[in-house]
Amino acid sequence: MKIVSMRLALLRAPLRVPFRTALRETSHIEDMIIELTDESGAVGRGEAPPTAAITGETLGSIEAALRGHIGPALMGRRFDGMDEALSAISGSIVGNSSARAAAEMALWDIYAQNCGLPLYRLWGGGMGRLTTDITISVNAPETMAEDTAYAVSAGYDTLKIKVGENPELDLARLRAVRSAAPEATIRIDANQAWTPRMAVRLLEKMQAEGLGIELVEQPVKARDIDGLQFVTANSPVPVMADESMFSPQDAVNIMQRHAADYVNIKLMKCGGPANALRIISAAEIYGVECMIGCMLEANVSVSAAVHLACAKSAITRVDLDGPALCSSNPVMGGAKFSGKLIELSDAPGLGISSIDGLEYLD
Ligand code: MG
Repeated sequence: MKIVSMRLALLRAPLRVPFRTALRETSHIEDMIIELTDESGAVGRGEAPPTAAITGETLGSIEAALRGHIGPALMGRRFDGMDEALSAISGSIVGNSSARAAAEMALWDIYAQNCGLPLYRLWGGGMGRLTTDITISVNAPETMAEDTAYAVSAGYDTLKIKVGENPELDLARLRAVRSAAPEATIRIDANQAWTPRMAVRLLEKMQAEGLGIELVEQPVKARDIDGLQFVTANSPVPVMADESMFSPQDAVNIMQRHAADYVNIKLMKCGGPANALRIISAAEIYGVECMIGCMLEANVSVSAAVHLACAKSAITRVDLDGPALCSSNPVMGGAKFSGKLIELSDAPGLGISSIDGLEYLD
């Protein structure tokens, strides 16, 4: 595999409804796309969203990392296999996990195309189909009950609710969601909002009320692994680490200490599929189930996550509703979304044939 060209472009996709969390509101996706071409003419694609609050990356930093460091490490060199190509990326820059993830998935895309295999087959097989949960946007309880009823009527059976803004309002929202969806699996994500003791108290209250919460994501501050461990040991609701786990080293530390019951893998946090595979190996050793999640991403990087989830049985939960939140899909091929069902074709690589409306940056 010899990379002969790299192009960068912006992908914009409007959201159906503005996406609101306690921290921000946004009406569209605007992500960096990388296209690598090898000497055989195969085009590999990758995507990186700017998530300054999580990975510290902006569109400007992603472009600078790809153009100034990662691109030069890949261009014109002949790689005998993926290991060598992956080392070139990891040797070119530290941090910048989303920029590295985008370049890496473009390389995997080319590598799998050259093997004539869809990526999920290359990574271990599986069925090429799975189901995702859906996030009910944070709103007034009545609005959330309506949105929940709509999601259930559209076939979703697993709902994710962002909490952490205000304990009383959170409870009112969860009551509204639960009464609109008595049978649904409800998982909540506190995005670091609580102290450890507060988390245990609130989770006890939720379960005592019969809200039937399946799991809570990231109840405490990302760096507070002691606190995470305290909640895991004392809460009636299983705990999932999200912002606390970026790297495979983070994963092993959390698993060894039993600081969480589950972990949430995102390609943009861990730096790409290779580190995601390392985290999955650790999870298999420690018997920890994984969720695969995404940022606000379009169907390039989410397709990479779908391939991974299809290939690995340690990924038992799927939170990949990014493309389903967009009002149009500029990506041709890749993972196909219809309601909660996500399916892959047997097209080689990521399976993406083209992307409409890209704004090239060269
Ligand atoms: Mg989360």
